[in-house]
Amino acid sequence: MEPPVHVPAHELEARVQAIFVAAGCAADEAGRIARELVGANLAGHDSHGVVRVPLYVSLLRAGHVLPGVTAEVVTDGGAFAVIDGGFGFGQTVAPQAVAFGVERASRDGICIVALRNAGHIGRVGAYAETALAAGLISIHFVNVAGSVLVAPFGGVERRFSTAPIAIGVPLPERPLVLDFATSLVAEGKVQMASYGGKALPSDALVAPDGSASDDPRTLYGDYAPGDVRLAGNGLGALRAFGGHKGSGLALMCELLAGAFTGGGTSGGPESGARGRITNGMLSIYLSPRHFGTQEEFERTGREYADWVASSRPAVDGVDVLLPGEPEARTRAERLAGGVPLPPAQLAAIEQVAAEVGAG
Ligand code: NAD
Repeated sequence: MEPPVHVPAHELEARVQAIFVAAGCAADEAGRIARELVGANLAGHDSHGVVRVPLYVSLLRAGHVLPGVTAEVVTDGGAFAVIDGGFGFGQTVAPQAVAFGVERASRDGICIVALRNAGHIGRVGAYAETALAAGLISIHFVNVAGSVLVAPFGGVERRFSTAPIAIGVPLPERPLVLDFATSLVAEGKVQMASYGGKALPSDALVAPDGSASDDPRTLYGDYAPGDVRLAGNGLGALRAFGGHKGSGLALMCELLAGAFTGGGTSGGPESGARGRITNGMLSIYLSPRHFGTQEEFERTGREYADWVASSRPAVDGVDVLLPGEPEARTRAERLAGGVPLPPAQLAAIEQVAAEVGAG
C-alpha cells in the first residue's frame, strides 16, 4: 500500500470548498461542507471526511441532496420541535436544528428536537461538541433512512442503517463525547479500506452464506479504483457491534430517529421509493444549570472521570482514554502535521474536481 500524503488542513478545506462551489453550492454552504468534512478527518474519523466528496457530488448532481435549503420548523412545542431538513445538505440543516435545540435548552433547561429529511449529517459528535460549547449535555440518536446496510444479530440480510449514537457531557476541562455507529465499523471505514486505507476487522462484514468477511466487495460488489462505491451493488452486510446489545441499540435508533421523527427507517417501501438517503436525528439537550445540579454534576462528574481514566493501563505506555480524547489528540496532531490521505483517495477527489470544473 502506498504511504499517505499529508495535506495541510486549510489547503484541503479550500480545495473541497472550490469543488462544491463549482458543483453548484453557494460559497458559504460549500465552506461549511468543506469545514465539516475536513473536521472529521482532523478528529481521526476519516470515514466521514473528504473520502465522501465523490459521493456528495454525485448526490448533488442527481438532485438527491439540494443546495441552499433552510430547515423548516414543522412543530414548535416550546420544549420540543420537529424540524424538516427538506433534503438539504446535512452540514447546513443539522447545524440549524442543533442551534434551535441549544438556544431553547439554554433558555428553558431542556429541549428535544426531532430532525428529519436531512442530507448526510456527517460526524454526529460534531453536534454534541456544539452543545458542549454552550455547557449542555446532549444525546443524539441517528438513523439513515433509505440505507439498509447492517444485518441484525443472528441474521444475514440487511435491516438497519449504521445508525450512530452520540452523547456529549460538558465536564470542566474534560469534555466528553461518545460517538459511534452501531455497526461494527462505520460504512465509511469500508470505503476507506476499499481505497487502500486501514484494513477492516476480520468479522466486520457478513457474506450472504453467513460467513465473516473483511472484503469491502462484500458490501460494494466489484469496483474500479475511481468508481463511486455503491453499497447497493454488494450482496453481503455490515454486522452490528456488540452482538445482541448493539443490534438492539441499532433497532432503537431506527425507531427513534427514523419512525418517530417521521423521516423514515432504513428500509421499507417508503424509503426505497424516494431514491434518497437521508439522516434523521432525535436530539435531547439538557442544561445542568437549570436542573440546579450543575455544581455537584461538575465536581462529582469530573472526579469520577479522572478516577476512571486513572485505571492502571493493561498495556504499559498505552493510556486509558475517555470518549472524545482520542479525537482531541488526533486533531492536535493533524493540525500540526497535516491530514494523511491515501493517494488513491486524493486521485478520486481530483477526478471529481476535474468533472465539475474546479480549476
Ligand atoms: P469508533 O468505532 O471509532 O468509536 C468512536 C468513539 O469511541 C468515540 O467516542 C471515541 O472517543 C471513542 N474511542 C475510540 N477509541 C477509544 C479509546 N482507545 N478509549 C476510549 N474511547 C475511545 O467510531 P465509528 O463507529 O467508526 O463512527 C465513526 C463516525 O461515523 C462517528 O463520528 C459517527 O457519528 C459517524 N457516523 C455517521 C453516520 C451518519 O449517518 N451521519 C452513520 C454512521 C456513523
